[in-house]
Amino acid sequence: MAPDQLQRLIAATTATIAENADELTALDQAIGDGDHGVNMKRGFDALAAAAEEIAALPLAGALQKAGMTLVMTVGGASGPLYGSLLMGMGKAVSQDGGTDVAAMLAEGVEAVKKRGKSEAGEKTMLDVLVPVLAALKAAAAEESTAAARAAADQGLAATKDMLATKGRASFLGERSVGHLDPGARSSALLIHSVCDVIEGKT
Ligand code: ADP
Ligand code: MG
Repeated sequence: MAPDQLQRLIAATTATIAENADELTALDQAIGDGDHGVNMKRGFDALAAAAEEIAALPLAGALQKAGMTLVMTVGGASGPLYGSLLMGMGKAVSQDGGTDVAAMLAEGVEAVKKRGKSEAGEKTMLDVLVPVLAALKAAAAEESTAAARAAADQGLAATKDMLATKGRASFLGERSVGHLDPGARSSALLIHSVCDVIEGKT
């Protein structure tokens, strides 16, 4: 991947997190401790500060470094999980730097599941990431971003009626039902943002 496209990816994701940080915090206030927006903004601001250095690396190293940056700066439960996602994706970059996005996301999602000891259906970011992965595997290349966007939106919406069984929201038991999951919302925002860059919209 060209350095300028990586820089665009970092700029776009940083902007969407900053623009929606208050909403992420509000969602986390309802079923968590109200820090998800602040956590994510801190992490993506750190990513933006390191953008030039990260974008100069080959893709596998760039994802590894970006993931480490998130682990060190986001904090909370979501920092190590988003870090695992990016580092897992980096591991799937082939030797020649080839980018099969579905294969990369598959490895990233596996890393999140392992780190979080979680699966889809537990009202977390995985309820967006897992359907997006399935949609990417099924979609024709020219429909991949539209399919990913739709899967992200449906996955996010489905978290509303779910009972949280992982993370802080699980402490609420039945009271977690009726609210969107903050990490699923941040994942959906990030998927749309990556699609914007792939489609050349930003
Ligand atoms: P914390 O819960 O430590 O305050 P954040 O508020 O930053 O961390 O992130 C909360 C989000 O992290 C949740 O909304 C959920 O999507 C995600 N999350 C928490 N625990 C897990 C887990 N075990 N597996 C997957 N995602 C998780
Ligand atoms: Mg929180």
